[in-house]
Amino acid sequence: MPNPVYSIIIPCYNEQEVLTETHRRLTAVMEEMGESYELVYVNDGSRDNTPAMLNDLAAQDPHVRVVHFARNGGHQIAVTAGLDYASGDALVIIDADLQDPPEVIPEMAAKWKEGFEVVYGQRRSRQGESRFKEMTAKAYYKILQKLAGDIFPRDTGDFRLVDRKVADVIRGMPEHSRYLRGMFAWAGFKQTPVLFDRDKRFAGETHYPLKKMIKLAMDGILSFSDKPLTLPLVLGSVMTALGGLMGLILLILLLFHTQGGLWWIASLILLTGGVILLCMGIQGRYLARVYEEVKGRPLYVVGDTRGFEGEA
Ligand code: UDP
Ligand code: MG
Repeated sequence: MPNPVYSIIIPCYNEQEVLTETHRRLTAVMEEMGESYELVYVNDGSRDNTPAMLNDLAAQDPHVRVVHFARNGGHQIAVTAGLDYASGDALVIIDADLQDPPEVIPEMAAKWKEGFEVVYGQRRSRQGESRFKEMTAKAYYKILQKLAGDIFPRDTGDFRLVDRKVADVIRGMPEHSRYLRGMFAWAGFKQTPVLFDRDKRFAGETHYPLKKMIKLAMDGILSFSDKPLTLPLVLGSVMTALGGLMGLILLILLLFHTQGGLWWIASLILLTGGVILLCMGIQGRYLARVYEEVKGRPLYVVGDTRGFEGEA
């Protein structure tokens, strides 16, 4: 069987309430587009009827591929497996709960045909999400931008279409803490947004409780910035400098036979704390290097080559 043009990757964790509708809407959109496609469902260790429903879909529809996880690995890991198993020229990542409308896929495909290699869905609006989530998300992306150096597009989740060669780069990144939207941004390539309105969940409940959200947010910062490791260095320098300055003033006071009193203690505390933090900060800089190496990312990312053997 030749490789399909499109692979749609759908991570599913306990999605029995939405699967039938999701499959119906995805199929309608893909049939309308009129090119070959496959639907790669990744069952992320679901405990409800999801696995059986997926097997049924696979039995009825030759476009369906199913990967069953033996245990729950988390959304980002499920998508990673989808990237491994998909064989299309363009790969689309989409949530199973219809919050990312499948009807946006043709628009993404059109951009891909224009030559863009990453077409990411950018939220124009979010339906049915709390004010709290909206505000924390906004604040979080501001901080992330500052720390990681402005590589992340705004209001962008995992909903996107990527060219096969971009997917191959991501597959070549062996890091275990996977913050995929960050990894795609890091990889570069010709990127462009497509605006869409994020819908309410079609049915069922979110599988991203606050605890998982915080973990994802931490993964974003910890995987793409080592600036937090510099914090003790900065604090330590300031404290040491202040402590030293106070010590100096106290010495001068002593020359004029004035007692420093409690100020001596303040100066000593600042100095000791400052020196300890400084040393930690220096360790932090080394740790940052070790971390950078351990992540094992490729040194460079090639977008295209010409004139080599076997090429036109
Ligand atoms: N998901 C998954 N594994 C998990 C949690 C979620 O594969 O451990 C899938 C889920 O089935 C859905 C997508 O990831 O397709 C997004 O999850 P959800 O809709 O629960 O998150 P939210 O949209 O509320 O952030
Ligand atoms: Mg959702």
